[in-house]
Amino acid sequence: MSALEVRDVVVDYEARGGGRVRAVAGACLTVEPGQIVGLVGESGCGKSSLARAAVGLVAPTAGSVFFEGAPVSPLTRRARPRELIRLQLVFQNPYSSLNPRRKVGSQLGDALDALDLVPRRGRSARVRELIELVGLPATAADGYPHEFSGGQRQRIAIARSLAANPSVIVLDEPLASLDASAQAQLANLLVDLSRDLDLGLLLISHDLAIVRHIADAVSVMYLGLMVETGPTLPLWQVPLHPYSEALIGSVPHPDGTGFLPEALPGEVPDPANPPSGCRFHPRCPYVFDRCRTDDPPLVPLQDGRTAACWLQPQGAPVALPGDRVKGVNLPR
Ligand code: SF4
Repeated sequence: MSALEVRDVVVDYEARGGGRVRAVAGACLTVEPGQIVGLVGESGCGKSSLARAAVGLVAPTAGSVFFEGAPVSPLTRRARPRELIRLQLVFQNPYSSLNPRRKVGSQLGDALDALDLVPRRGRSARVRELIELVGLPATAADGYPHEFSGGQRQRIAIARSLAANPSVIVLDEPLASLDASAQAQLANLLVDLSRDLDLGLLLISHDLAIVRHIADAVSVMYLGLMVETGPTLPLWQVPLHPYSEALIGSVPHPDGTGFLPEALPGEVPDPANPPSGCRFHPRCPYVFDRCRTDDPPLVPLQDGRTAACWLQPQGAPVALPGDRVKGVNLPR
């Protein structure tokens, strides 16, 4: 049983001018205990909508989500069943989710009180423990949120989610507003927490270098659909879907080499009016006739990988012409 399982989830929204937009068009993924799963794709591909459906903040139009075997219902936080408290969400901007007028220790204490997981006399010790778990000194309990850097505030937000003793945390672009050094440090903290606490992490990020560095598995999303999934290293070394290949090819190396600005031409199409056939076909360098009319299914391939592309025959992945090895190592 996976810690978190998303099955064929569809998320529709009302469009501003009427009608409906399909933000997620049938997505599947799993997160196992102690595993970091990266969810990548360009802005507007449906990553955040899928994250919200995964934790029950939006109701899927179709499909289902299971957390530790139990269905995740789209309920308000107040009505959240106790067993779902161990499924947490951390947002991009920690400042908006912290109370600027209350000390960090008080806010963590409030979280513990609300969860009723620690007896009153053990509260201070647990607050200190949570703060130290995320690599901050215990004295941080006496500070106000504005006294901390963006990276430190994100650590505080993670400490608050850890108050629930979660088994899975969904992190929606947690590194997006941080500088490169803070990103690398926070990424390393996530690896440590996942390993030490057997914590499953679903890391939604447009920063492919960080995902490449810390994720055990990757799901690549394009216009509401999963187009490729699999273990991180093989996927990076030999992407099986042209979109994965282009996305990975568009990552600049720190030394300035390897950046292929032409790798990902054009814009993501309007989700309200997706292209026929394969949704990637208007941007795909390998497009052929069938791609324009038939939507390729996501098929299982060897070594636990899947891809949705007519170039991939059932059961026998073929390498794309532009295979390459990518990735950067971040300092610990
Ligand atoms: Fe490209 Fe066709 Fe594969 Fe779509 S199905 S990614 S258009 S080759």
